[in-house]
Amino acid sequence: MPSAFRRTVRGMRDLLPDEAEKLRYIEMKTRQVARLHGYREVITPVVEHYELLAAKVGEENRKRMYVFKDFGGRMVALRPEFTASVARLVATKMRSFPKPLRLFSVGSLYRYDEPQFGRYREFWQANYELFGSKMPEADAEILELTDNLMKEIGLRNYFFKIGHVGVLRNILSREGVAENQQNSIMQLLDKKQQDDALNLAKNSGVSQTGLNTLRNLLEIRGNDPNKVIQRIAERVKNYSEAKEAIENLSEIIRLAEASGTDAKLVLDAGFARGLEYYTGMIFEIYVPQMDIALGGGGRYDRLIEVFGGGSIPAVGVAPGIDRLALALEQQGTVLHLGEKRKVLVIPVNRELLGEAFRVSSLLKKHGLPAEVEVMGRSVSKALSEADKRGISHAVILGPREVKEGKVVLRHLNKRRQETVDLSKLTESIT
Ligand code: AMP
Repeated sequence: MPSAFRRTVRGMRDLLPDEAEKLRYIEMKTRQVARLHGYREVITPVVEHYELLAAKVGEENRKRMYVFKDFGGRMVALRPEFTASVARLVATKMRSFPKPLRLFSVGSLYRYDEPQFGRYREFWQANYELFGSKMPEADAEILELTDNLMKEIGLRNYFFKIGHVGVLRNILSREGVAENQQNSIMQLLDKKQQDDALNLAKNSGVSQTGLNTLRNLLEIRGNDPNKVIQRIAERVKNYSEAKEAIENLSEIIRLAEASGTDAKLVLDAGFARGLEYYTGMIFEIYVPQMDIALGGGGRYDRLIEVFGGGSIPAVGVAPGIDRLALALEQQGTVLHLGEKRKVLVIPVNRELLGEAFRVSSLLKKHGLPAEVEVMGRSVSKALSEADKRGISHAVILGPREVKEGKVVLRHLNKRRQETVDLSKLTESIT
């Protein structure tokens, strides 16, 4: 057998039933949370114009796109994120939709990342975006929604790392650093290469006072948001726009706390996210068991302009579904994936097959997963195989019982059986 028949392409995964079920369960929760918070789903294509995606994603993701020419000679790419597609909609077909506009997407994304723990080339993400509001209450809503999703799926001890790009960016702007240089500095910070980031700032013309302020800021972090905000505010008191940024963050946190958000907040003044388009609050979700982010988000007020859609502010979050599944596994959480009962209907001879189909159809009508024995096995063989497959109940149809309107119900997990009236069958399957 050629090896291509045996293995998936590097970075791609087959999700077997147990894994697929977990993923879809989390996906179902992301939809539930979207509905509760008033986010309506949009479904956009996996394949988009390369130009659209390249215009928006940062340099890092541009290099990681799956790009190809289709048979019509168009340069296209597999989406590495949802935001570009959703921004295309908001700038065009949904331009005149009333604001605030709350949109939700969920599905697979593709990035040519180096495969490792929690990092795949095809992965699943949910994406929530609120368009049209600049106000801190919109940011707070995104934090609250994210917190609700984490609670809803049963994640424990999670915390949000939170910051505001306005603090560093405003200092760099005041120091005369051009935007593309700022992007490179933010990317170095995202990779935790602080010395390189400071060196680049220095080479970009940042004054000694500016460098000292930046160096001091990069050290400020802690899990008492009010204290950390105070410390940052003291450091940036000579930079008025940076001061505004920290006041904005303070208000967002106050409102998120008022909403009952349980997440511990770890405020970090040197926190930067790789993507270039963030303009305000940024955050990522973590659990102590893993050092990779389970989701991330923030505010990006200038993105829609890139697509010619005028000035529409936006704030959003993208939880990674695969990583949430990994985190739950690391925490030993057992998911309640719904119906545990599964019934196998076994006729003792082929004459009773029609009756077996009638009984299994009746069970399914009552919402019970049921199947007819399809392997032509004897009753005893069918029972022992059913046990291996996690079937919880077997219904055995014999000519005498059927004539009397009865069946034999075997509780496989309890190792006992009883004869019950067909009319009482569904209520007896417990
Ligand atoms: P981003 O779109 O880069 O802001 O990422 C948001 C979230 O998507 C991350 O926090 C991860 O949970 C998830 N994610 C991003 N890249 C990958 C990947 N290569 N594999 C699995 N999950 C990913």
